Amino acid sequence: MKIATPAGYLESLESLERDVYVLGERCECAARHPMVRPAANAVAETYDLESEAEAERLLLTESHLTGRTVSRFTHIHQSTDDLVDKVLMQRFLGRRTATCFQRCVGMDGLNALYSVTHECDAAHGTGYHRRLRDYIEWVQDENVVVEGAMTDTKGDRSLRPGEQPDPDAFLHVVDQSAEGITVRGAKAHQTGAINSHEILVMPTTAMREGEEEYAVSFAVPADSKGVTFILGRQPSDTRKLEDSPLDVGNPMYGSQEALVVFDDVFVPRERVFMCGEVDVSGYVVERFAAFHRQSYGGCKVGVGDVLVGAARLASLYQGVDRASHVRDKMTEMVHLNETLFACGIACSSMGRATAAGNYEVDPLLANVCKLNVTRFPFEIARLLQDIAGGIVVTMPSEKDFRNPDIAPYLEKYLKCADGYTALDRVKILKFIENVTVGCGASAYLTESIHGAGSPQAQRIMIARLAELDKKAELARRIAGI
Ligand code: SF4
Ligand code: FE
Repeated sequence: MKIATPAGYLESLESLERDVYVLGERCECAARHPMVRPAANAVAETYDLESEAEAERLLLTESHLTGRTVSRFTHIHQSTDDLVDKVLMQRFLGRRTATCFQRCVGMDGLNALYSVTHECDAAHGTGYHRRLRDYIEWVQDENVVVEGAMTDTKGDRSLRPGEQPDPDAFLHVVDQSAEGITVRGAKAHQTGAINSHEILVMPTTAMREGEEEYAVSFAVPADSKGVTFILGRQPSDTRKLEDSPLDVGNPMYGSQEALVVFDDVFVPRERVFMCGEVDVSGYVVERFAAFHRQSYGGCKVGVGDVLVGAARLASLYQGVDRASHVRDKMTEMVHLNETLFACGIACSSMGRATAAGNYEVDPLLANVCKLNVTRFPFEIARLLQDIAGGIVVTMPSEKDFRNPDIAPYLEKYLKCADGYTALDRVKILKFIENVTVGCGASAYLTESIHGAGSPQAQRIMIARLAELDKKAELARRIAGI
């Protein structure tokens, strides 16, 4: 693996020459920008094999293509054990960063395309699967970060792609030659886009006949000509520019979303994995969504572990750790969090082999997992705020603690239980602020609703997979009807 350490990853990112805009200005080196760096640090953790004993086993595995050791983030799952290990890895990294570490979207995209390209070749005589395998082998050996880009900007939601007044509302092919294709459009809410070396584009929905130009999948380097990144804002994000890390709450790690614009970007043929095969486009969407809905049963659970820990510290620092209602609320937080984990493990254990030989998750259970994720983190966050108290949003700044005129007041009046300083208390409360209403809430809360598809998308899949008539038959037999 060419990129082998967190420092190596950050260096490789700094050397990319890309068009990145932050707060209206072109950014010479996005990876060093204080609003982006914490998010890059979170991705860098996926390269850290040394700081914890289980890291190597969880983060590395053997490539089925080459037999070489590769990052699990570039791996094609070969068994249900692989699927379970993926979830364990995500929980592990959620615990470490307390945010979204962004690298799963590429893994989930490659795994979805792996089986779909195989089926597409069988149906249409195309040669996409071989190309994709070559690409995956390259990704594994380079150990680059691949951003999986699915969500189009979609324009008027009541209109199909081909009916939009602006044809670029859905990313599409605008030109083709023997050498490659040219694409135009944009992908929205792109997790980790600014921290990726490669962008793997997939269609946003099942395309129909007549929508061939929108049924397109390909990979391009992030520094390709015509690709522009516009960083998305997060609540309280400019606190990262204020030189008071305490006020950020999680100063080391963050997440990042961006609008990625493709303005006539050329893609060579060997990086095209679908071009016009509308009948298989929906499979990519469903399988990517299922993998990513599984993912949330790992990453958000890891963040949840940190939140349970934060609740424990807040209760100790404030002298309420023995109150029975506090203990009860913490039990409830754990119950909710472990329920999400159970769903992540269940859809992995019940996974199955595809025709291409790789393993996919059980789609019904993956959708149940994600639908729970649209709710439980909010309840966990509510309980956490309940335990922490209203001070979560009324605390003074780190800068106040640095001012000798008022610091003694803060130390005197914000101190609670004996043995803990006011500053310790404020630190954990600032973290709670970060993850429940600040910058970190983007990843823990809003992303839990809309990431990997909004709740309605999961309800549609659950309804489709529910087999209601089979269940009615069970009841009919028992009731003697
Ligand atoms: Fe990975 Fe979770 Fe972030 Fe998705 S939301 S990229 S699964 S950490
Ligand atoms: Fe996500």
